[in-house]
Amino acid sequence: MSSEPEPVVRIRELKHDRVNFVLENVDMALANSIRRVMIADIPTVAIDLVEIDSNTSVLPDEFIAHRLGMIPLVSTACDEAMRYSRDCTCETNCAFCSVVLELNIRSEILGLHLDVTSNHLEIAPARPGVMDEVGEELSKRVENFGLPVGKNNPNVPPVLIARLGKGQEIRARCIAKKGIAKEHAKWSPCSAVSFEYDPHNKLRHTSYWFESDAKAEWPTSRNATEEEPPRDDEPFDYLAKPNKFYMEVETDGSLGPQEVVMKGLQELQTKLANLILGLKAEPEVDILQNSEQNQGPGPAGGSAQNAGSWNSRPTGGAGGGWGASPAGRGSGSWSPTTNNWGNRSSPNTGGGGWGGSSPANAGWSSSGDAAGAGWGNQAGAQGGTWGNTATSAQGAGWGSPGQQSNGWNV
Ligand SMILES: [Zn+2]
Repeated sequence: MSSEPEPVVRIRELKHDRVNFVLENVDMALANSIRRVMIADIPTVAIDLVEIDSNTSVLPDEFIAHRLGMIPLVSTACDEAMRYSRDCTCETNCAFCSVVLELNIRSEILGLHLDVTSNHLEIAPARPGVMDEVGEELSKRVENFGLPVGKNNPNVPPVLIARLGKGQEIRARCIAKKGIAKEHAKWSPCSAVSFEYDPHNKLRHTSYWFESDAKAEWPTSRNATEEEPPRDDEPFDYLAKPNKFYMEVETDGSLGPQEVVMKGLQELQTKLANLILGLKAEPEVDILQNSEQNQGPGPAGGSAQNAGSWNSRPTGGAGGGWGASPAGRGSGSWSPTTNNWGNRSSPNTGGGGWGGSSPANAGWSSSGDAAGAGWGNQAGAQGGTWGNTATSAQGAGWGSPGQQSNGWNV
């Protein structure tokens, strides 16, 4: 068993558009990965193409098109409810890979301007014929999917697009598509994601500029109450590392904060799984060899065949970390069937790993049995590198023990 403590998430504040939580017992690289994934890798819907039929306002077409693109649209469950246009079978866009919004407004008021806002965007009816194709995406959409966030909600001010004088009009057809913020920031579900660590600057990662007294001139944040202030005579611990992160996620309303965090973890998990698959040399051949070698639950004749992969398996049935696992109830490595890291030798014991997508184990660090080491640290004499397992009861690398119903333990 590892002596490393498990990652802990503690939510301090949860509102409809923001969440503030404390992430403990992880290193900075992980905290920052989560932040970056939440900002840039979660798919949402945003207006991507604008066909302007008529624009007699004072603003040029591209100005209006840009503003339309930046309007947040309701994107709940976007990853399942919509296809990327590049993955779709249609030629340009269809009901499965787009939402069409129309803006059709003309000012007739003399002497007063008319504000054109996101509330004037209406979803266009689907064109006949396009619904013939088979796909379950449409059934996963919420009622207001693709509409501007807060449309017709008196408590949410609409987004101003333009102002029209008498006789001026805008008629446009806007095609909203699914995308991620790596391509364009309009697809980011977050308006801000930040984290703070070490509020007392014990680690000296920050040098304060000051005139006479740094303590007086740099008041601490509210996170400082969570940690012990340093004593004046405390020696500097140059080996210390940050392990407590105060994270704040604010969304633009296209997705809820909880969905952003959970989808972010899922996305990170998928990226790592793809990396592992990429590191595995010829996985098909490996699996084939293993299944020939291991017809039963007996000791795995694995060492020769598995040589060169990331996993060494001294005994049969042991959980594995990275790399191939033999036959039958495959243990170890990332399993496409359970979508979890570090599965046990039996599927019934419950897969482990953080951020698993099964509802029962969603979130951080769920694993069924008592084995399983956190983050690839191993028990026994064979401690050390990732994915080496010592004895049969011991689980794999990235799972960690201790049942948590989900990641949102408050
Ligand atoms: Zn399509």
